[in-house]
Amino acid sequence: MSLVELNNVQAFYGGIEALKGINLEVKAGEIVTLIGSNGAGKSTTLKSICGQVQTKGEIWFDGQKITSLEPHVIAQSGIAHVPEGRRIFPRLTVKENLEMGAFSVKSKKLIKERIEKSFVYFPRLKERYHQTGGTMSGGEQQMLAIARGLMMNPKILLLDEPSMGLAPVLVDQIFEIIQELNSTGMTILLVEQNAYQALQIAHRGYVIQTGEIILQDDAKVLLTNNQVREAYLA
Ligand code: ATP
Repeated sequence: MSLVELNNVQAFYGGIEALKGINLEVKAGEIVTLIGSNGAGKSTTLKSICGQVQTKGEIWFDGQKITSLEPHVIAQSGIAHVPEGRRIFPRLTVKENLEMGAFSVKSKKLIKERIEKSFVYFPRLKERYHQTGGTMSGGEQQMLAIARGLMMNPKILLLDEPSMGLAPVLVDQIFEIIQELNSTGMTILLVEQNAYQALQIAHRGYVIQTGEIILQDDAKVLLTNNQVREAYLA
C-alpha cells in the first residue's frame, strides 16, 4: 500500500519553480532513496511533504490528502522530518531534546517509554543523557536528531542527508541504524548525496535533476545503471 504519494507536485520559492511536477511514491515498509546533485530539489521534496514550501499538485499520506495542511498538523498525522544539518537544540540536554520531539504527547509515561525505546537503537544517547546537544560530536547529534524524530511514533521518517559531514565509520553506523529501523517496520524516505550507500540499503530509488525525476527503479538496478554510475557513483 502506498503510504506517501506525490502526484504532479510543483514547489515554489517565490517565482522560482524548484520542483517541476514530480511523481513519487513510498510504500509502507520501504526504504526509498532520492538522490541528486546540489540544488536538484531533494530537500524541497521533503519540505513539500511536510508543508514547509508552497506547492501545487497533490500529496497523499496514509489515504488522506495533506496538500496545504499546516506543518504541525502534518507532523502530528505521522510524518517525522529530520532536516539537513541536524538542528538539534544545542543548549538543551539529550533528555530535553527528546522530550521536545514528543511535543504533543501528554503522557509522561509514554514519553519515558519512547525514550527507553530510542536507547535500543542509540545506546550512545543513554550515556550522554544529561549532556547538552551542542557539546556532542556530529555523529551523536545526528543520532539525537533521528531519535527526536521518532519520539512522535511516526509512520514515516523523512531523512535529509543524515550522513553529511560525518566520518566514514559514523556514516556506516548511521546507515546501519536506518536499516535496523526499517527492519522493525519503519518506512523511510532517505535523501542522500551519498548515492552509493543509500542505494545499498534502499529498496527503490528516484533520481532528481533540476526539479524533475529523471529515473526511478529498484535500488539494485539503479546501482548498475550507467547514467547513475557516471553522475552519482563516480
Ligand atoms: P542540496 O543537497 O544542496 O541541499 P537539494 O537537492 O536538496 O540540494 P534544494 O535545497 O531542494 O536542493 O533546492 C532546490 C532549488 O531550490 C535550488 O535551485 C535552490 O537554490 C532553490 N531553493 C531552495 N531553498 C530556497 C529558498 N528558501 N529560496 C529560494 N530558492 C530556494
